Amino acid sequence: MRDDGSAALLDNIPGSEIMVAIITIAKRCIGCGICSEQCPQQALTLSPDAILRDKTLCNGCGNCIEVCPASVHETTG
Ligand code: SF4
Ligand code: SF4
Repeated sequence: MRDDGSAALLDNIPGSEIMVAIITIAKRCIGCGICSEQCPQQALTLSPDAILRDKTLCNGCGNCIEVCPASVHETTG
């Protein structure tokens, strides 16, 4: 659990073994979809509950960190 109360709680989502919640949408993500549009690897998926990153596709370019207006993305995870 993070200090702001959000957490990566995806254990009940099919395929979550390869998906990482960068943060829960209700806490910080405003659901704009910019990060998923700007990801060169199509690694980000906006779901109703979270923005999800497929670690097997992410190349660590950092585009999502740069474009997110809510500072949701972090370099860990
Ligand atoms: S770091 Fe780059 S490849 Fe990885 S999720 Fe962000 S935009 Fe996509
Ligand atoms: S850019 Fe940030 S606020 Fe917008 S969908 Fe992605 S994580 Fe959420």
